Amino acid sequence: MSKIQKETDVILIGAGVMSATLGSLLKELAPEWEIKVFEKLANAGEESSNEWNNAGTGHSALCELNYTSEKSDGAIDISKAIKVNEQFQLSRQFWSYLVNSNLIRNPQDFIMPIPHMSLVQGEENVSFLKKRFKALSNNPLFQGMEFSDDPVELKEWIPLIMEGRTSSEPIAATKIDSGTDVNFGALTRMLFDHLKSKNVEINYQHSVKDIKRTSDGLWEVKVHDIDSSKIEYHTAKFVFIGGGGGSLPLLQKTGIPESKHIGGFPVSGLFMVCNNPEVVEQHHGKVYGKAKVGAPPMSVPHLDTRYIDNKKTLLFGPFAGFSPKFLKTGSNFDLLGSVKPNNVITMLAAGAKEMPLTKYLIQQVMLSHEKRMEELREFIPNAKKEDWDIVVAGQRVQVIKDTEASGKGTLQFGTEVVSSGDGSIAALLGASPGASTAVHVMLEVLEKCFPQHMMEWGLKIKEMIPSYGMSLVENPELLQEIQTSTAQTLGLAEKELAYS
Ligand SMILES: Cc1cc2nc3c(=O)[nH]c(=O)nc-3n(C[C@H](O)[C@H](O)[C@H](O)COP(=O)(O)OP(=O)(O)OC[C@H]3O[C@@H](n4cnc5c(N)ncnc54)[C@H](O)[C@@H]3O)c2cc1C
Repeated sequence: MSKIQKETDVILIGAGVMSATLGSLLKELAPEWEIKVFEKLANAGEESSNEWNNAGTGHSALCELNYTSEKSDGAIDISKAIKVNEQFQLSRQFWSYLVNSNLIRNPQDFIMPIPHMSLVQGEENVSFLKKRFKALSNNPLFQGMEFSDDPVELKEWIPLIMEGRTSSEPIAATKIDSGTDVNFGALTRMLFDHLKSKNVEINYQHSVKDIKRTSDGLWEVKVHDIDSSKIEYHTAKFVFIGGGGGSLPLLQKTGIPESKHIGGFPVSGLFMVCNNPEVVEQHHGKVYGKAKVGAPPMSVPHLDTRYIDNKKTLLFGPFAGFSPKFLKTGSNFDLLGSVKPNNVITMLAAGAKEMPLTKYLIQQVMLSHEKRMEELREFIPNAKKEDWDIVVAGQRVQVIKDTEASGKGTLQFGTEVVSSGDGSIAALLGASPGASTAVHVMLEVLEKCFPQHMMEWGLKIKEMIPSYGMSLVENPELLQEIQTSTAQTLGLAEKELAYS
């Protein structure tokens, strides 16, 4: 008896926002292709993409200070901020295309306008913020950004943060009203509903255990059907490993040369969530501070208004931590199991290099509720312990690889698409800027894996994402057009007015 089941064109592993985005792009570009999805959990968007597992920031560098570094001559480097912002514009355009084409509905269920602010204290930091503001505010992507170091004005912008503040240290903030809060969990579920309506076969409770090349050049995926306890085998011409933190172990199983000498370093997260509606009502914005010395960029503290299940809520964090699991629902053996003969030196080198980070993460895990309250009080001086609970966020698995610039075992904070030379398999590793740039990252997967189709798909991609392949900074009229039309389609324009 043959163990092989039906051959399909595409297999997507994992039902997070990345697979959802790739599947939705492919359904528009090659509607006749057959797609199967295997997800080990019972629903879509339950791991990092879930609304409670990430901060829901539509990352566009409007408030994240780690996207604008200070050069040795004191000038501010805004190149990364421009890149991240332009990538987010791609997401806005694709989501708008899906709404305009009635493929998904009710955008207010996944995206809401919210001011994005940066907040700093101390002379040096205020001077940095002022320089950052000067460097960004003349750029068309950051138009509308305001700066203030006037405590009276700041009290109008962020009353909850300014109330009870006794320090005489200088304080300053920037504010831009065109920021967004994105419910990536809701978006993921909507996209999978859409894919289901287009006859994509979505298999929940199906855990992928192995991936092997067949003699005829296909990929064979071994799947455990959790409900029936049966093992199934499926083959496909193309496989995308969108397993979030679970992608690295699956990539290693493929044995492709590109999977070697790569490791993963898991960073866990916690948020504090406000349970007092009166406090929630006193704040409106996403306010990003500066990372503490020695802290990794993903642990920049921020106070966020969130919209989850049509309810306004307030989150503070994340508090980073160390856990050996690669997924929130993963195993304590994930990290150890990912150490292979081909990456052991890379991993050991990272271990030696990143001692201070490991120490920092362990210290963070040990923080008591009172210690976390102290950090929160740097944002909300009058915060009361009884108003705040803890929620466990998702796991981020940072990529470790050997680089020319920094040598063996270098920790990467971005996302990486790793694909085989023939483009028949690709995996997404890393987690930042994350879900906000899913469309950009999945377009990269298409470019790497389907170069032979890109000419034929070009017109359709341009119809869906008009700025694809173009710089928006160099095309301010197009930027204006895109910002106006996407704000209208996604319902951001009216709400911006309603909340102001
Ligand atoms: C604390 C935190 C804060 C964040 N904040 C933001 C933010 O503000 N803005 C932003 O844009 N991004 C943010 N991110 C990043 C963002 O959440 C992720 O980049 C994004 O959700 C990743 O999507 P994904 O589809 O790759 O992974 P996931 O959503 O994790 O999905 C992967 C899926 O694969 C499944 N899976 C794994 N292994 C297997 C297997 N063997 N077989 C079958 N299924 C499998 C998992 O169950 C899961 O459902 C944050 C992340 C964290 C952890």
